[in-house]
Amino acid sequence: MKKELISVVVPCFNEEENIPLFYREMTKVMEDMHYVSFEIIFIDDGSKDHTLLQAQKLAKEDSRVRYVSFSRNFGKEAAMLAGLETAKGDYVTTMDVDLQDPPILLEEMYRSIQEEGYDCVAARSVSRRGYSFLRKLFTKWFYKIIAKISSTEMVAGARDFRLMKRKMVDAICSMKEYNRYSKGIFSFVGFQTKWIEYENTERVAGTSKFNFPKLFAYAMEGIVGFSTTPLLISAIIGIFFCFFSFIAIAVIIVKTLVWGDSVSGWPSMICIMFFLCGIQLFCTGIMGEYMAKMYLETKKRPIYIVAETEEDLPGKIDK
Ligand code: UDP
Ligand code: MG
Repeated sequence: MKKELISVVVPCFNEEENIPLFYREMTKVMEDMHYVSFEIIFIDDGSKDHTLLQAQKLAKEDSRVRYVSFSRNFGKEAAMLAGLETAKGDYVTTMDVDLQDPPILLEEMYRSIQEEGYDCVAARSVSRRGYSFLRKLFTKWFYKIIAKISSTEMVAGARDFRLMKRKMVDAICSMKEYNRYSKGIFSFVGFQTKWIEYENTERVAGTSKFNFPKLFAYAMEGIVGFSTTPLLISAIIGIFFCFFSFIAIAVIIVKTLVWGDSVSGWPSMICIMFFLCGIQLFCTGIMGEYMAKMYLETKKRPIYIVAETEEDLPGKIDK
């Protein structure tokens, strides 16, 4: 009987040191799981170092290794989509190259799908080891907020590390949105998902590619992409201030009629004006965020552009 194929999708951005380490770990897993076939697809997300060279080297040595190299950095979300679209496997897993998602969990994931009938097994980090205190704090708040305001289920501590059946991968690939937030997309497509908890580890080499501004943009992507509650909140703030101003007008009219006009109160007036202008700009900003996403969505730009793949390698043996 033909062995089932697992595609391992690995986004890489400036990860020349990690690729060989990752491949070494994966080789052990592939040996242990000899009853399935594997393909490893490295997505070089426009790296400036020798990431592509490392991927090319492995692709030449091992026919199970494939790669897709982008024309520039398009971001991890684009890299994951490219990997899912390129993968030929009956199952696909997405995994970070820094070994923070231990490949050793793959066997347990595969068994859960086989024996317990799940469509997907996803990993949830309980410790978030390897991240700073502030990052852990903001991540915790972010998950609390998004869980409250989004109708799509968002699991706290969810990683992008998961093993999925082909039908789920096809469903994800059918979602062609430009502004991608995979954790939301995974949840949106549904299917029976089992969550396994694990303690993620420190990066084996290199540094995190997500600084604070990048993480903030990622969080905004999640909120704007999977919730319209901020628009509702801005409308509610508007209604509240209208109501408040009616009361204030009534109080001023009564006060003037009873005690006569007085010109005092300028400083407080200015404060109120500044405050209300601030609120107005805040609400316009929220609307602007949604409009900006809509604007980008209507342009229908490609999510990523491929510069080369393993098929372009000279002397590549056809599999
Ligand atoms: N990554 C990518 N493109 C980017 C940023 C990151 O492909 O623009 C990859 C990176 O090489 C790694 C994975 O996404 O394999 C997770 O990145 P990182 O470890 O820096 O994120 P963190 O663990 O800090 O959340
Ligand atoms: Mg990492």
